[in-house]
Formats: sequence, structure tokens, C-alpha cells
Amino acid sequence: MKKNILIVGAGITGLSAGLNLIRNGFNVTLIDRVDVGNENQTSYGNAGLLAASSIIPLSSPGLLRNLPFYLLSKSSPLFLKYSYLPKLLPWAIPFLRNSSKSNFAYIIKNLHQLTYDTVEQHLALSKSTEASN
Ligand SMILES: Cc1cc2nc3c(=O)[nH]c(=O)nc-3n(C[C@H](O)[C@H](O)[C@H](O)COP(=O)(O)OP(=O)(O)OC[C@H]3O[C@@H](n4cnc5c(N)ncnc54)[C@H](O)[C@@H]3O)c2cc1C
Repeated sequence: MKKNILIVGAGITGLSAGLNLIRNGFNVTLIDRVDVGNENQTSYGNAGLLAASSIIPLSSPGLLRNLPFYLLSKSSPLFLKYSYLPKLLPWAIPFLRNSSKSNFAYIIKNLHQLTYDTVEQHLALSKSTEASN
């Protein structure tokens, strides 16, 4: 008997998982608070890049050392609203911790595992659908 799977969220993640599960013999129900293609979904407005190369984290070695320069220089692209700092810190501390050489290398290696075959995955996903062109 086919197993039933419920997926919450019908963006590209939920749709891809659902389609792959159906192709592997499962019954799938997708639920969402909006219709597929709604502009409130992140998937609605992305740039459509099959971004296999997007594996270099912004939090990179040297970031912490250069941070004072970025914060003080008027020509730096970094702007910080200091009153926002208490809200930002719980996110910023782990973000900056990831700029160590070992964490940086670990993230790149693992993101590569997720993205290296993006073209093949998209071709397989869209096969026999209206998106195949
Ligand atoms: C401007 C922009 C450009 C981008 N460009 C690219 C690009 O070129 N290439 C690329 O690979 N990525 C790009 N991205 C990233 C990519 O779009 C997202 O990673 C991807 O769309 C995320 O898909 P998702 O299915 O995880 O999320 P979503 O598309 O947001 O889907 C999540 C769904 O879950 C639903 N949901 C959440 N909570 C509940 C709940 N409690 N009950 C019911 N439903 C719920 C939401 O309504 C939503 O429909 C871009 C993102 C942005 C914002």
C-alpha cells in the first residue's frame, strides 16, 4: 500500500520534494496558506539562477579582522544601525563564528554537495511537466 506524506509549504522546496516522492510511489498532499505562485512565496520572485557556484559564505576568514574598517569607513558597503545591535547579536555571533577557516571550509564542502548537480536536478524535476522547456 502507498504511504501518505503531508508536506507543509508549496514553494520550490515543497513542490520538488512532493514531485520526487510521487515519482517514488508515495501519495502526497501539499498544503499552504497561499496558492502556488503567490507573490508572498520566496520562490515567486527569485532570479532563476541555477546557482551551483553560490557556495562561498559571506562570513569568510578575515571578516572579523576587517569589521572595524567596514563599520568606520564611509565608503564601505556595510552600514549598521547601532540601536538594532541587541536584536542583531543573536544572529551575528553565530554568523561571525562561521568565519573561522575550518567552518568556512566545512560550509563550502557541504553546500557543494547540495548544489553541484543543480542543472541535472532541474532537468530531472521538470521532465514531463510544462516547465521542461
Ligand atoms: C530576490 C531573490 C532572488 C533569489 N534568486 C535566486 C536564484 O537566482 N537562484 C536560487 O537558487 N535561489 C534564489 N533565491 C532563493 C530562492 O528563491 C529560495 O531559496 C527558494 O525560493 C525557497 O523556497 P522555499 O520553498 O523553501 O520557500 P517559499 O517559496 O517561501 O515556500 C515556503 C512556503 O511555505 C508556506 N508556509 C510557511 N509556513 C506555513 C504554515 N505554517 N502553513 C502553511 N504554509 C506555510 C509559505 O506560504 C510558502 O508558500 C532568491 C531569493 C530571493 C528573495
